[in-house]
Amino acid sequence: MKQHRVKPGAKVDLSQIDPGSTPGFKGKRKEADERLLKLNERLEVLQESLWAEHKHKVLVVLQGTDTSGKDGTISHVFEGVNPLGVRVAAFKAPTPEELDHDFLWRVHLKVPCKGEIVIFNRSHYEDVLVARVMELVPPEVWRQRYDQINDFERLLSATDTVILKFFLYISKDEQRKRLQERLDDPQKRWKFRKGDLLDRAHWDEYIKAYEDALARTSQKHAPWYVVPADKKWYRNLVVAEILVKALEDLKIKTPEPEEDLKGVVVV
Ligand code: AMP
Ligand code: MG
Repeated sequence: MKQHRVKPGAKVDLSQIDPGSTPGFKGKRKEADERLLKLNERLEVLQESLWAEHKHKVLVVLQGTDTSGKDGTISHVFEGVNPLGVRVAAFKAPTPEELDHDFLWRVHLKVPCKGEIVIFNRSHYEDVLVARVMELVPPEVWRQRYDQINDFERLLSATDTVILKFFLYISKDEQRKRLQERLDDPQKRWKFRKGDLLDRAHWDEYIKAYEDALARTSQKHAPWYVVPADKKWYRNLVVAEILVKALEDLKIKTPEPEEDLKGVVVV
């Protein structure tokens, strides 16, 4: 899974990555499903321990274009975890109140507290993506934000937050198929906005903005992973593997029970 990690300071060229590829997985699709099931179960136990230990905080950032599978990743990777101690924060276009503050204000309000896992569905990275591509702020404003984001994430990391950032990378053609599916399926149509087509028309500029964001903000304590995401099963597997590994690395200890429980019998 290491191969997906963006090395701090390295240039990122997304044209070198095939969104339809499944590197590191040669087995059958069925094996991937079985593996994900095992990871789901492991995550359930780890999350419960994390919550019990009440020490570390975990922040999972999901970024990607429309239809890249941010919602799907949340439902499949976190299937079975106890909602107690897990939260999703979705970031839409800022409200007037949010715009009256600095861009990290609304984000800081949503970061995980001790024992919690928080999943960001979009994030402060929109402020160097859509804000840049759609020219919502002048270049001198978004250009400063990479350093500001790095400082912010350094603060979170120094205060016991594990940060994992995933760019769900789909191809332009896969997006066409998925957007069309949304339009055609009455159950999914609510997710479609005409604005999605405008974003799509700026595809190449978004890719460039992503390359810069990934290159400038992948840190040892807050790495970016580029996840080839045309195949949903592979996307889920990669995110689950990396998350479970990061939680295992914390060597979480559930709290010691009260002393002198030996011989205590419940009648
Ligand atoms: P969705 O995630 O598809 O529900 O859409 C959320 C929309 O909010 C996307 O079009 C994002 O580009 C937009 N959005 C999120 N954060 C920001 C931001 N900081 N500035 C402007 N637009 C944003
Ligand atoms: Mg959308």
